Amino acid sequence: MNQKEGPSTRSVHLCSRIDPLTGAIVPPIIENSAFAYHTLEEWRAAALHQVPGHIYSRNTNPTTDLFEEKVAALEGAEKATSFATGMAAISTTLFALLGPGMHAVTVKDAYGATYLHFVQILPRFDIDCHVFETEDTGAIETAIEKNCDLLYLESPTNPTLKVLDLARLIGLAQQKGAITVVDNTFATPINQSPITLGADLVIHSATKYLCGHGDVLGGVVCGKKDLVETIFRHRELTGPSLDAHSAYLMLRSLKTLGLRVQRQNKNALALAQFLEKQPKVTQVFYPGLESHPGHEIAKKQMSGFGGVLSFELKGGYEAVKHFLPQLKYAYMAANLGQVETIVGPPATTSHVELTDQERTAAGIPEGLIRYAVGIEDVDDLKADLNAALEKI
Ligand SMILES: *Cc1c(COP(=O)(O)O)cnc(C)c1O
Repeated sequence: MNQKEGPSTRSVHLCSRIDPLTGAIVPPIIENSAFAYHTLEEWRAAALHQVPGHIYSRNTNPTTDLFEEKVAALEGAEKATSFATGMAAISTTLFALLGPGMHAVTVKDAYGATYLHFVQILPRFDIDCHVFETEDTGAIETAIEKNCDLLYLESPTNPTLKVLDLARLIGLAQQKGAITVVDNTFATPINQSPITLGADLVIHSATKYLCGHGDVLGGVVCGKKDLVETIFRHRELTGPSLDAHSAYLMLRSLKTLGLRVQRQNKNALALAQFLEKQPKVTQVFYPGLESHPGHEIAKKQMSGFGGVLSFELKGGYEAVKHFLPQLKYAYMAANLGQVETIVGPPATTSHVELTDQERTAAGIPEGLIRYAVGIEDVDDLKADLNAALEKI
């Protein structure tokens, strides 16, 4: 497989092979805690990584291996390692690569739990964390130039879909010898390739688009082989591994990744354009809109603008409270990236820990709704939004 093939061909065929034992097209689920050997010599050689072989599923498992291989191939990475959740992937990456006295640089709009790692958890281990306004490129660049061992980025961000110039920031960090990490959860490998833009590591909450069906939690880190191996060794010791059954479900989901994400791109763009024209909507945030401040950069670094948009209703939180339950095809829930449309105000999801004042200070309007579009027919979603708007 090569990068020239289309996203759906890649989603279906990358890393697929006929099972040598059974001829199965679909890889079997290898549900085993431990793997047996006929001789101690063989066992020892496998345990010392002198020959290939699995020992214990906290370390490696054939089904999770295949999932890792597939994500690495989709991202164009050398290697991947997987986790029980996205936060396990993020936390393990940060703890494996940072230590006392080191400097990490990131942005305020990183995923909520990630942000709290930088402001609450890592500083307890004497790691210097420098957290900047997402759009203050000048301050981020100054920090990178001054002292930066690890640059952690996310684009587009939650919930107002801010866009960072990945190539520019990664390029500068690389010149300074820093490790660069990008959370690519919102964009997916279908829409954005951080490795091509120079990133050392790419992280996913696989719970979202990679899974796509809202039924499995998972995380994955992929990128440079030596860094991924360092993270893998840390994971072996701390233990937040992905289990074989979840890996199997993820592999099943990945076959439709291209199909789903391209549909979600289309739906989201059409709905963002529709919402922009509605008098009861004050603002729409979607990187595919020309009105979006990050549109030009998004056009440069993304091949699709993703399935998440957000918009502000006139009438604030009261209007949101009346509007959301009217939607027939949208679940009020905290997930995103699944085939069903999922909605919620940041006050109950991404920014639940903040006070009203803190949310306003963070540029999140009271009447904001995050709309993570599913794969439904766009005319139905439009009619649904229209009917709910008429009722407020
Ligand atoms: C959900 C999410 C995470 C955390 O992933 P979990 O699987 O919930 O642990 C990290 N980053 C982004 C951008 C997310 O949306």
